[in-house]
Amino acid sequence: MTQQKSQSAVPANSNAILVINCGSSSVKFSLIKPQSGETLLSGLAECLLSNDAIITIKQGGNKKSYKLAAPFDHQSALAVLVAQLQQLHLVKDICAIGHRVVHGGETYSQPTLITEQVAQTIAQLAKLAPLHNPANLIGIKACQQAFKKLPQVAVFDTAFHQSMPEKAFIYGLPYSLYQEHDIRRYGFHGTSHYFVAKQAAKLLNKPLAQCNLISAHLGNGCSVTVIKHGKSVDTSMGMTPGEGVMMGTRCGDLDAGIIFHLVENLGYSINDVDKLVNKESGLLGVSGLSNDCRTLENAMLYENNSQAKLALTVFCYRIAKSIASYSASLTQLDGLIFTGGIGENSTWVRAEIVKQLGLLNFYLDADKNQTTRFGASGNIATKDSRPCWVIATNEEWVIAEQSAQLLTNLAQ
Ligand code: AMP
Repeated sequence: MTQQKSQSAVPANSNAILVINCGSSSVKFSLIKPQSGETLLSGLAECLLSNDAIITIKQGGNKKSYKLAAPFDHQSALAVLVAQLQQLHLVKDICAIGHRVVHGGETYSQPTLITEQVAQTIAQLAKLAPLHNPANLIGIKACQQAFKKLPQVAVFDTAFHQSMPEKAFIYGLPYSLYQEHDIRRYGFHGTSHYFVAKQAAKLLNKPLAQCNLISAHLGNGCSVTVIKHGKSVDTSMGMTPGEGVMMGTRCGDLDAGIIFHLVENLGYSINDVDKLVNKESGLLGVSGLSNDCRTLENAMLYENNSQAKLALTVFCYRIAKSIASYSASLTQLDGLIFTGGIGENSTWVRAEIVKQLGLLNFYLDADKNQTTRFGASGNIATKDSRPCWVIATNEEWVIAEQSAQLLTNLAQ
């Protein structure tokens, strides 16, 4: 896709990018220096479109919340944010807005300057991400209103996985469904997998293009990606973020026959099935208790709750199987990365996964596993093991960095 020249050149230092991650009823934002990753301000507007709409802004050690005024929408939230940025004399530092956009389909494999035509394509791609792309567009439109003079950049969650070969992205369905309806595997969490792979390359002290890695992003949503010579060659999520390993409330891979059984014999509607597999399954569904890993670990360890133990055990086994399956994609492997809220913090989950990966020569150092959490990063494997890193992800920094880079390139 050809890019239009940006109006504003981006000086190499000093400027900041406002990173926006817009959901249907929330806006997450961070003002970030793209070179250093320093966060100047961050926050969240939530419960939008309801009377409870509220925005919380953090700057330095300060955190303040403001109730939003009618119409309680994304625009109202951005109005408060702009007023705060003005009061803090930060508006002049902002050189662009970087938007997280969930689905770029096959059209976008790079960060892209948002023009009217790009916005229309993002809207068309909503057929592949009906919950996410329309919400991302609301954020784009609201920012175009609030920051009329600033360039807006889209950074796509699917982009990093566009390097997957056909053998990894084609479903075992009639090929015409891919050709005529774009039904294929796309993958998600690309920005996170890319960030942690880049950090691992730094730890290995070699260029990312020479690194072969498997990264496990384990949060409420979970995905495992295999990276060959610095590029994603396969990932566990598919056409939607529902495929792959088990997650907080999503079941992950499922025998499609179960859906027919639910509809034909158990009276489920298609909407019921959608709710079941996306909102009521996974850790929540198996445990019957919670989708939250901390709650389940506490119930398992301190209350002897066997359903919590089963949920976590299934969760870990399926992730271990997914990691092991990627030995089919590589001839060399430099190491394994854990990231996301669970990957960065849960010593139990990491230990349970890695103990099933002995054939790939992964062994954890129990002490290092115990101490590397709550934002700490490092190799938690034994000396004889392949490296196994915990790396705190930072998708916002990637979006800021890639937005700044794009604008610098366009200005040259
Ligand atoms: P995320 O979607 O990346 O924010 O991750 C959310 C998940 O991380 C939830 O399941 C949390 O329970 C889990 N998590 C966060 N902190 C911890 C912790 N200290 N121990 C275990 N799981 C955690």
